[in-house]
Amino acid sequence: MKYYDKLIFELSKEGRKGYTLPENRLKNYSLTALPENLKRKEEAELPEVSEFDVVRHYTNISNKNFGVDTGFYPLGSCTMKYNPKINEEICSLPSFTGLHPLQPDSTTQGALEVYYNLSHALAEISGLAEFTLNPYAGAHGELTGLMVMRQYHMKRGDLKRTKVIVPDSAHGTNPASAAVCGLQIVEVKSKPNGRIDVEDLKPLLDDTIAGIMMTNPNTLGLFETEILEIAKLVHECGGLLYYDGANLNPLLGKCRPGDMGFDIMHINLHKTFSTPHGGGGPGDGPVGVAKNLVEYLPNPQVRKAEDGTFYLHRSEDSLGRVSGFVGNFGVLMRAYTYILTLGKEYIKYVGPLATLNANYIKESLKDCYYLPIEGVCKHEFVFDGLLDKSTGVTTLDVAKRLLDYGYHAPTIYFPLLFHQSIMIEPTETESLETLDEFIAIMRKVAKEAIECPDEVKSAPHNTPVRRLDETTAAKHPILRYRDLKAM
Ligand SMILES: *Cc1c(COP(=O)(O)O)cnc(C)c1O
Repeated sequence: MKYYDKLIFELSKEGRKGYTLPENRLKNYSLTALPENLKRKEEAELPEVSEFDVVRHYTNISNKNFGVDTGFYPLGSCTMKYNPKINEEICSLPSFTGLHPLQPDSTTQGALEVYYNLSHALAEISGLAEFTLNPYAGAHGELTGLMVMRQYHMKRGDLKRTKVIVPDSAHGTNPASAAVCGLQIVEVKSKPNGRIDVEDLKPLLDDTIAGIMMTNPNTLGLFETEILEIAKLVHECGGLLYYDGANLNPLLGKCRPGDMGFDIMHINLHKTFSTPHGGGGPGDGPVGVAKNLVEYLPNPQVRKAEDGTFYLHRSEDSLGRVSGFVGNFGVLMRAYTYILTLGKEYIKYVGPLATLNANYIKESLKDCYYLPIEGVCKHEFVFDGLLDKSTGVTTLDVAKRLLDYGYHAPTIYFPLLFHQSIMIEPTETESLETLDEFIAIMRKVAKEAIECPDEVKSAPHNTPVRRLDETTAAKHPILRYRDLKAM
């Protein structure tokens, strides 16, 4: 600990711009400086087990885990594509893993160059001017992007813009981020064809609107064909357009949110750019903005000097900091590797293949699952439960039965537009064989729902645990090994 303190102290003394901690704070860094009342009075009671038992315990748990490397994972909205192993190799290079965030810029030029190049590749892909890679997740990016929106209006002295428009089909994080940002949420309705109702939008647009949050294709997998008209209307009323980039995958190399009129967006690197989702992380949610908003991005921003060196820029107009340093660097390395692997030549195949896969499943199953909106979808689509409603078998039952057959369940009960939503997203990295096997199992479950509904309603039968009381599990989680033993 002492050695570590000294190291931090020495490194920060190097005068790394923006990161030098005041000396009095550094003193507090030492464990000995902990106040007495916070220190343990007696030894912590830790589980006493041999290394071998620990190895077996974790190996057995890992064997029960389900991930994209184990089986098909059609979790709609989450873009569970293959995580290429070369990404892991590159991000594990010791020259990157050995970096300390407090090192002087002169010794981290390579890492800063990766940051700079990745942010510019994302800008080119998205049609926006500049990206920050600092936010740690999609939702964190949403909050950051909305803070940029707020900063823009505040800097112009336009303080009455406190409302943000969110469609009724939006992902739950959209209204949540707006609320965390202190904005009021105004809902805009969808038409029967699943797209935003422009006639419903028009009367909402006045001088209290900060902007609108949208995703395109929307959460039903449908392209918002009136996006140019929507962008025009929102801009005319003085608002900005925020793009939720969770659905960027089908657009790659084909069309760009910036060209549709969006001013701010986030990208989920763990979705479109093949980095792992992990158990809710680590992710990364880069935020891109149009030219007139660049100075509001969070600090520090990575810039390139005329002599070709990279440095951390701190903008006076910035909304401030949103993360400790400059993003989740290991995740950034993976995404950068993915972009370089595909290159301009191949990245444009991602969207069409993801779209083809989704439409193939949709068309192959719509005679046994209810498709509420006909037509071509993009990378994902939504069924409203089974076609035969007389069986009493719900979407939850279907999802649980799929576990018995070795599949991860699709996203269920989202979007909220339908009562029995089943949202399927196969991604471009699945083979035709995998899609055909999944279609066959989905058909089999639909048949079981008619012939032996109780078998489906009581599923899963072959998983390590049966149907869980999810509410109790979420509200009263057992997190201590001793409580587990008592069970
Ligand atoms: C995944 C997702 C988000 C949130 O992103 P996280 O990285 O999970 O925080 C937001 N909107 C949509 C449509 C999504 O699918």
